[in-house]
Amino acid sequence: MKLKYLGTAAAEGWPAVFCNCDYCNKARERGGKSIRTRSQAMVNDDMLIDFPADTYHHALVNNLNLSKIKHTLITHTHSDHFIPVDLAFRGICFAHNLISEKITFIGNEAMNSLLKEQYLKSMYKEVADKIESVYLPLFKPTQFGDYTITALHANHKTDEIAYVYVIQKDNKTMLYLHDTGFLAPENHEYLKNSGIIIDLISYDCTFVLGRDGNGHLGLPDCIELREQLFVDGIVSKKTVHVINHFSHNGGTLHEELEAEAAKSGFLTSYDCMEIEI
Ligand SMILES: [Zn+2]
Ligand SMILES: [Zn+2]
Ligand SMILES: [Zn+2]
Repeated sequence: MKLKYLGTAAAEGWPAVFCNCDYCNKARERGGKSIRTRSQAMVNDDMLIDFPADTYHHALVNNLNLSKIKHTLITHTHSDHFIPVDLAFRGICFAHNLISEKITFIGNEAMNSLLKEQYLKSMYKEVADKIESVYLPLFKPTQFGDYTITALHANHKTDEIAYVYVIQKDNKTMLYLHDTGFLAPENHEYLKNSGIIIDLISYDCTFVLGRDGNGHLGLPDCIELREQLFVDGIVSKKTVHVINHFSHNGGTLHEELEAEAAKSGFLTSYDCMEIEI
């Protein structure tokens, strides 16, 4: 299974849209991996995780053919994770010869009501008919094509029940932990009882080298969470640990963060980074 990071920033991007702080200006100066767009990832070439406003930009930069996408997992409806306005252009005169006729959006109740009530209702019927909206209950492994997807309960200070996901295919397992602080015990219990060994974990690291734990994580929190998952027996010495979803308020540009995270055995994501497990 391949995971490609399309965007690796928190909600405002880095440099942030309207920000003139030192860390945004340093990122503008240095460019390269320190330029981070809004959070999105792709699994193989047929599944997206989240659908921010930067989706079109991600398709251009990575030369993606989004007509191949069959499934999209939505973690929650904050605007850096779910702004599917461009779905209106998925059909009739706006898009021809779709490789996957249908695209299925998978997520919580908030995502389903927003997609159905706000977006699908305002689209041409021929376009809306090819967009499926599916509510995935917590802790229920469900088959979507070749993938088995399980939603866990994120700790994210929002009115909706935000999700993090276990994604399985071909005997490989990823845990995608965005946006969340430390997980509630029910999640650890579920994972322990599932017998899963995780091959790759992508951690929220909004606070970069700082700490939070309640709503988001920083590197010291990720280290603590990794230890707990190790005690739970669901990660092995071979598990790949990646930090992602960074806020400019955390201050540290890519190269310095990468060096610091490597000391603790974490990889640091950047836009366009690809990992195969
Ligand atoms: Zn976010
Ligand atoms: Zn800034
Ligand atoms: Zn969020």
